Amino acid sequence: EQTCNKIAAGEVIERPFSVVKELMENSIDAEAKNISVYIEEGGQKSIKILDDGIGIHPDDIERAFLPHATSKIKEAEDIFKINTLGFRGEALASIASVSQTIMKSKREGFDYGKEICIEGGIKTYIKDIGFNTGTSIEVNNLFYNVPARQKFLKSSSRESALISDIVSRLALVNTNIAFKLESNGRKIINTFGNGNMKDVIRAIFGKEVVDNIWYFEGHSDIASVYGYVGNEAISRKSRNKQSIFVNKRYIKSSLITAAVENAFKSFLTVNKFPFFLLFLDVYPEFIDVNVHPTKSEIKFSDDRHIFKLVFNSVHKAISENLR
Ligand code: ADP
Ligand code: MG
Repeated sequence: EQTCNKIAAGEVIERPFSVVKELMENSIDAEAKNISVYIEEGGQKSIKILDDGIGIHPDDIERAFLPHATSKIKEAEDIFKINTLGFRGEALASIASVSQTIMKSKREGFDYGKEICIEGGIKTYIKDIGFNTGTSIEVNNLFYNVPARQKFLKSSSRESALISDIVSRLALVNTNIAFKLESNGRKIINTFGNGNMKDVIRAIFGKEVVDNIWYFEGHSDIASVYGYVGNEAISRKSRNKQSIFVNKRYIKSSLITAAVENAFKSFLTVNKFPFFLLFLDVYPEFIDVNVHPTKSEIKFSDDRHIFKLVFNSVHKAISENLR
């Protein structure tokens, strides 16, 4: 059991960034309106996530740490169909097997909550506590019992940057949730959760970006696309300010990137890459399902269709704004 969990942990939980991702997705699944993330030393020393979601029933908190208790997925293709983010049912088990984890949670409507502590996969205590509705989870000394994994960890600033990226992406697709990220006590991200996309963009990319972007959208019988493309004032030498979300999942797509960049280059001749933020919603049957759940590159069954839809939408928006 113990060994089995540690192996599984290597797959799901590669690094502090993966812990933050899994835990934030749990908070989103729990319908939290506020999610706060606190990390120390790039998450290697500690990761704490606090949410005001529905919380865990006191009788279920121990079970939440058992692997495969909640598997909601049968095949890889399901990942673009299901609505909840959690699908393997082993994140908590994996995380707790390679760290010292303390979870506190109270279910809506209950007058007490539970606190459980698990070290290296072994429960050290569980007790009743008073707590606000919601969940907090603290993951300390990640991989303290897996020296081989510790050796592969990158620098803490690299890891903080990755964590900042994942918080940003989740904030962009969940504009109704207020996100906070603090790293070593310093505030990094703070969104309001008021549903306003431009407010989220301002909070994450800054005022200069928000003042230099144009909205685009387009629709076809199989897909809808919308988002923002930046003008030349904020184009960059690298592609690091480009984000694509397909059915709310962050992905990489050289096809979509090329479609936006080609539309951009037919007006603006700067030798740089445009800022863009693109949301594509497409019926799952038009997504090539040969993707592993952890891979972020995506393929479509009709590349030409998607390319034209994206190109035309961005082209139209730029031409209208330049007029
Ligand atoms: P999965 O998300 O795939 O179901 P996890 O191991 O990530 O598996 O979580 C196990 C279970 O613990 C979840 O299904 C959920 O019931 C519960 N849980 C975990 N985190 C939270 C949270 N922040 N709020 C409420 N319930 C949670
Ligand atoms: Mg989960």
